[in-house]
Amino acid sequence: MRGEPPPDDGRRRYWKFGWFDLSALPQIGKMDYQPKGGASRMFAEGRFRGEHLEVFPAVKASHILRPMGYCVYCLRDKDGAGNVLKLTSEHIIPEFFGAGLELPDASCADCQKVTSKFENSIAREMFDPIRKSFSLVGKNGTLKKTNFPLDIGRETSKHEFIHLVHFPTILVMPSLYPASSYSRRAINADDPFNFRMYNINADAAVLKRYALDSFSSQSIDMVRFAQMIAKIAHVYGTYHFDSGTFVPTLSGFLRSDYPPGTAVTGHFEHVGCLLHTPDNPSNNLHEIEVGKIDWNGETLQAVRVRLFASCEMPSYYVTIGRSSA
Ligand SMILES: [Zn+2]
Repeated sequence: MRGEPPPDDGRRRYWKFGWFDLSALPQIGKMDYQPKGGASRMFAEGRFRGEHLEVFPAVKASHILRPMGYCVYCLRDKDGAGNVLKLTSEHIIPEFFGAGLELPDASCADCQKVTSKFENSIAREMFDPIRKSFSLVGKNGTLKKTNFPLDIGRETSKHEFIHLVHFPTILVMPSLYPASSYSRRAINADDPFNFRMYNINADAAVLKRYALDSFSSQSIDMVRFAQMIAKIAHVYGTYHFDSGTFVPTLSGFLRSDYPPGTAVTGHFEHVGCLLHTPDNPSNNLHEIEVGKIDWNGETLQAVRVRLFASCEMPSYYVTIGRSSA
């Protein structure tokens, strides 16, 4: 469904960034962002107070947390007939990102089916070449594929397969406006702030040998991307705070399937960036920080999720619930 035209109601679910002039590529090994310029609109936003930081260095380290004993999404430990549910282990950060933090007995089969659907599609559509470049080890080891589809279309998608050695891999992640749960932003707003891009190996001279003078990033399904970030925050936050201490707000979003191509609204209700809170330089591959966001006289349970921190990718701030105390 990559490169699909925007749905008729004008809400844009899929975004990609095109380099139509290869002299505009970011330098290899450097982060850049596009489009340039400040925000057209700024919003009053909440303030994050971190309480506990979990860091993931580049090397995969297995770390198994205490078992939950119930499904963190539907909060059940028994089915409707009173039978004990079979629970599976959850990777706090999806396994394809090479992080080994694991929460045993944390998901029922029904919820696992829905969450693995959006995780797998994001893994494949957004991160395949990145995983290969970083040699990230997933469930089945590193990726065996060596040829990847490069999008050379503009408004629509057109793919040409290129060997990884020459594949122009650029890590692209969206910077978002603050989420509506902790800012004055409208609940159905769906546009990103800008795109951060880290050039791993895209070289105009190499692309010329393939007679390519332009290409696009992988297309980002903003809905499933927001679900993936929300899932990391929800699972780790539920473990950290324990579900009895707060009213979770993300369960419905995480347990919904949004088939490709359908128009969706409200996916940035709880997921966004704090534009007045700059990210510090970091050597970590990934970071998760649990804490609180103060906004509008309320205190919300929140989690900061930063994937590819060492490539200067943005922190996403996710509100996962309200205190029930
Ligand atoms: Zn469940």
